[in-house]
Amino acid sequence: MIYLNGSFMPIEEAKVSVLDRGFLFGDGVYEVIPVYGGQPFRLQEHLRRLDDSLRGIRMESPLDEGEWLNVFTRLITGTHDQYLYLQVTRGAAPKRDHAIPSGIEPTVFVMCSPITPVAPEGVTAVTVPDIRWQWCHIKAITLLSNVLLRQEALDQGAIEGILIREGRVIEGAASNVFAVLNGVLVTPPKSHELLPGITRDLVLELARANGIPCEERLMRLDEVRQADEIWLTSSTREILPVVLLDQTPVGEGNPGPLWVRLHQLYQDYKETLRHP
Ligand code: PMP
Repeated sequence: MIYLNGSFMPIEEAKVSVLDRGFLFGDGVYEVIPVYGGQPFRLQEHLRRLDDSLRGIRMESPLDEGEWLNVFTRLITGTHDQYLYLQVTRGAAPKRDHAIPSGIEPTVFVMCSPITPVAPEGVTAVTVPDIRWQWCHIKAITLLSNVLLRQEALDQGAIEGILIREGRVIEGAASNVFAVLNGVLVTPPKSHELLPGITRDLVLELARANGIPCEERLMRLDEVRQADEIWLTSSTREILPVVLLDQTPVGEGNPGPLWVRLHQLYQDYKETLRHP
């Protein structure tokens, strides 16, 4: 079952107009919310980011927190790890025109899918130029550059592309980036250049609560190339250790000791949701 514009239905029956501005212009935003033990993970944080994204494209949330939660509760089945995908587009206008139309209803779509666990033995990444637009803090459905960059990484045998702008590491094509530099956990500060990842914030929160030194600052690619550890974070892939960057081993070429620690803290935090 999925949710579309006020109704629940099998996904095969869900239909959207070809005049929908999401289809024509990529005019919309989305969220991905993990669900552990039947509970949406960091729900308030995800809904706050959704509001920010909507405001960023001159829209308002079509549902309030209680209404979102009602929809989610009806879509979540069982207690296995799953994720909610929700998308809000500006809706269908009578004609195709770039200018934002007034008085149209947004299109609201939510589905729930299983999370496939990612192997924790470490992944490979390659650096790619950040060719995206300049409002990357908005979680826009307009993902063509991310699609091309991710594919470029896959073509090179890696699972993620790390985006580089003017010699700086920005984020992954679908993740945030952390590096362990001289014993300090470093990630770029929030700005319009990157998505404010919910997993990123939680990793910083867990690190600070456990006395692990961390810093939010710009990271140059040349220093990240010397890092002891590099991690990618995202809601569905959690914290992934990068063991090979551009064909060169990171640190010892294995998931590092700080990753082992943070990964455990993250798993323990998830468990508190499963057994509140
Ligand atoms: N940056 C980008 C470009 C992303 O697409 C994502 C999510 N897929 C992230 C960062 C990580 O965000 P979150 O931890 O909220 O999933």
